[in-house]
Amino acid sequence: MRGRPDRGTVATYIPELACVDPAAFGLAVITADGEIACGGDCDKPFSIQSVSKVFTFTMALGRYGNLLWKRVGREPSGSPFNSIVQLERERGIPRNPFINAGAIAVTDLILSGHQPREALGEILRFMQFVCDDPSVYIDEAVAASEQRTGFRNAALANYMKSFGVLDNPVDLTLGVYFHQCAIAMSCVQLAKAGRFLALQGRNPTTGLSVVPAERARRINAVMLTCGHYDGSGEFAYRVGLPGKSGVGGGILMIAPGKASVAVWSPGLDDAGNSHLGRIALESLSQRMGWSIFGA
Ligand code: GLN
Repeated sequence: MRGRPDRGTVATYIPELACVDPAAFGLAVITADGEIACGGDCDKPFSIQSVSKVFTFTMALGRYGNLLWKRVGREPSGSPFNSIVQLERERGIPRNPFINAGAIAVTDLILSGHQPREALGEILRFMQFVCDDPSVYIDEAVAASEQRTGFRNAALANYMKSFGVLDNPVDLTLGVYFHQCAIAMSCVQLAKAGRFLALQGRNPTTGLSVVPAERARRINAVMLTCGHYDGSGEFAYRVGLPGKSGVGGGILMIAPGKASVAVWSPGLDDAGNSHLGRIALESLSQRMGWSIFGA
């Protein structure tokens, strides 16, 4: 896999991400019984970007339950991750929690009643809790880089604010959002973090239940239908499992009952999803017979 020349293009709209080595490649699999198989740059932290949206969505569902669906939908958007067009027609309500607008609305809910620093601390602690590793950190250089250049996200947030979909000042919500996207994790940490989604909401290593089984099932459903933006149909067709990508080149993939997998290859395809990462997951899922749609 590492020797393949077809690697896509590294994201450059966040300047700090443009500095990442396009030749990096890491993969980590953690099976239901806790066995870890990994290779390449699997211990090297990378910017998880939109993969963080799985975890903020999980937190917000825990805090708000079904009230969350008043602020965000759960349908695939069929549009790029940073598109603004649907928002006008749908009166500021984003299609789902995994496109940027939806994730900003979710972060705004997490921020409500807190100072930005507290909300961010809560998000970071949740990440550390789910992967049982306190060394997970926020890459301040990436956060600052996105803060300087996040004009599209500012447009999305202001637009939603005009419809009353955001409660907090736009700059505060965006500040938390940019920092959550700048969380740095390795493939091993990310695979561990997703484990509760493969195991009906439980993390057997810590013995703790992260979410009820029914909620884990629903989070997986939204990952399958919306986790790769306008590439979600393609991912379901080729890989057949819930997954969530980020423009840092990471993908978290869940094989329910079987494994949690994280891959990292920074080159992206046209939809902003890791090009080689998807190919690696397709081949892994095929060889293991993991697709939820049958062999
Ligand atoms: N931080 C990125 C942004 O908001 C996340 C996008 C992504 O990973 N697809 O543009």
